[in-house]
Amino acid sequence: MATHPKLLGVEDAKALSRDEVHELFERHLNPGQLHFLKLLGFDDVIVKRAEGMYYYDQNDRAILDFFGGFGSVAFGHNHPRILEARRRFQDERRHEICIAFMSQYATALARNLATIAGGDLQTVFLTNCGSVANEAALKLAERYAGPKRTTVAFATNSFHGKTRAALSVTDSEFYQNGFTLLPNRRRVRFGDLDSLEEAFKSDPSIGTFIVETVQGGAGIVLASEAYWKGVRALCDRYGVVWLADEVQCGVGRTGRFFAFEHYGVKPDIVTLAKSLGGGKTAIGAYIARRDIHMKAYGPSKVALIHGPATFSGMGEGCITAIEALNVLYDEALIENAAAMGSRLLAGLQRIQQQFPRLIKEVRGLGLMIGIEFADISETLPFGARQMVSLLDDKLKGSLCGFVGSLMLRDHNTLVAFTEYNRNVLRLEPPLVVREEHIDSFLAAFEQLLALGVTKIVSRFARAAMA
Ligand code: PLP
Repeated sequence: MATHPKLLGVEDAKALSRDEVHELFERHLNPGQLHFLKLLGFDDVIVKRAEGMYYYDQNDRAILDFFGGFGSVAFGHNHPRILEARRRFQDERRHEICIAFMSQYATALARNLATIAGGDLQTVFLTNCGSVANEAALKLAERYAGPKRTTVAFATNSFHGKTRAALSVTDSEFYQNGFTLLPNRRRVRFGDLDSLEEAFKSDPSIGTFIVETVQGGAGIVLASEAYWKGVRALCDRYGVVWLADEVQCGVGRTGRFFAFEHYGVKPDIVTLAKSLGGGKTAIGAYIARRDIHMKAYGPSKVALIHGPATFSGMGEGCITAIEALNVLYDEALIENAAAMGSRLLAGLQRIQQQFPRLIKEVRGLGLMIGIEFADISETLPFGARQMVSLLDDKLKGSLCGFVGSLMLRDHNTLVAFTEYNRNVLRLEPPLVVREEHIDSFLAAFEQLLALGVTKIVSRFARAAMA
């Protein structure tokens, strides 16, 4: 018999102290990442439990979650109905992996997604994350478009994931970082119809256009209704598949189930993930026009070219998503996202008027909101500038790091940063957020900004150097 290696048990994991987690994280996960966690003071928090709008740390401190896992926690943490559905599923000893048989859970989830999407968007493919949903959707579109039209157009400042094809259409030198990418790609300016038309006209090999309906990684960037109507018209005119990435902005976040509904248009394929998992499971999906699926994978001899992967449509994952989608409508969370988003945006606009030199712009749709700070690299007093550059080069011109860190330390509130625009704070609270949470966030944010830049920077620096 093999000797049992010295392993930690589940109870051991739960009982790890902050210092022990530090050490193991450094040794076995990502030592470089720890630098940033330490710099921002995020390494002081070990989350013990989470419920609704709050995390609770090792000292039972409640932390208000306006980060929302970059849009993954629409239902709040541990929604009781979602927990109950999972518990029942386990108690009844339902099965998880169902490659050999038809899964009633995957089928029901697919039917629900098709019902919500409506129209021609009727064929669903299930994955375990957003990158792979995009990966699968890009392959589907490529087969539909045919071998002469394999080029994929993508938008400036896009983020579609870190797997190879998704990375190839992600507009970031940082993430692409010298990796080998797909050869056939064409970048177009986000929100600019002339740029799109010029690309379609000059390059007939473009068969797919992938684009986020609201750009998240770019810093919550929106395009106009005229743009989206134009995208639909141009894709129709040039026979290009429009693949809408709604991994972050979908599932009700913007005040509609899909963000594209705001603009009265429909893409040919849409991808979802993040909140589709109800905050409890890793699940992603694409929903495609049935005729696209039938041309690409319809006949039985090609049906399995991109058939389900081992973990596509896991039982508990599917019932979690089914319950989550029902909760979304039963609790009117989409309407709540619209109402609470308006309240948050209006409050932030008021704060912007108070601090016009600090806040350049606030923008967003529903509960997907960006606060863009002014760049302070040139205006920061010399002493403070030096202090900050000693800490980390990235923080030099960005108020986000300081504000995010102090919101957590002094106001027990978690906010998110932005991949490409270091001056943008991202707010994506759960859709269960209520007025009192919005008001408490706004009060804390206002109080922090009232300190003024020098005090904010020196408080941050003192904490970071402690
Ligand atoms: N697409 C968008 C718009 C995203 O925001 C993300 C993740 O942040 C992805 C795709 C990739 O999703 P995942 O991290 O689940 O692979």
